[in-house]
Amino acid sequence: MKVGMKGDALIFDFQSGPARKCGDCSLCCKLLPVRELAKRGGSRCRFQRHGKGCTIYHRADKGFPPPCGLWSCVWLADPEDAGAMRRPDHAHYVVDPLPDFIVIQTEGQPDQRVNVVQVWLHPAHPDAHRDPGLRAYLALRGARDGFAALIRLNESDGWVLFPPALSPDGQWHERGSRKRPEDNDVVVSRTPMEVYR
Ligand code: SF4
Ligand code: SF4
Repeated sequence: MKVGMKGDALIFDFQSGPARKCGDCSLCCKLLPVRELAKRGGSRCRFQRHGKGCTIYHRADKGFPPPCGLWSCVWLADPEDAGAMRRPDHAHYVVDPLPDFIVIQTEGQPDQRVNVVQVWLHPAHPDAHRDPGLRAYLALRGARDGFAALIRLNESDGWVLFPPALSPDGQWHERGSRKRPEDNDVVVSRTPMEVYR
């Protein structure tokens, strides 16, 4: 499955099946939240077993959450765009095909909504987002789709990466961010690394 955007709409391409295999990787089962299981991002799923994967895979009778059966990371589902990215368990991050958005607040100006690629980062490898393969993918999404990146440690902690195509000086920029409790937006201030709530 390939997921993309057309305007504001999410496009799911179910014709393009995975060209890769997960193998021994199960990093998404640790890094991503699963609402149906009350599983938080960054915490291992109780059904995940090392070397075995999911112990309830496609067992609806055992409580297998349907979203787990539909979801694939970008490395698995979209090798063409993933380019030089390595398998997530080797790279220590998982790129989510589902986008989110941030709201940039600049004093005296209207709020600005920016779509973001979500990257779930292994907390033990906080510099993994500097991987050249990931940066090449994010630079592509910035230039082609106008997307920034949200580097997530869990549902509420992380930061925003602006790729060169979205920065006035053509450089990478990191900005602090925080989830607003009343909705799913992330609000980020451009100046300085201060956080709005
Ligand atoms: S992170 Fe990607 S490659 Fe790893 S188990 Fe999940 S879907 Fe498979
Ligand atoms: S239920 Fe299975 S597929 Fe879903 S997060 Fe847990 S171990 Fe992974």
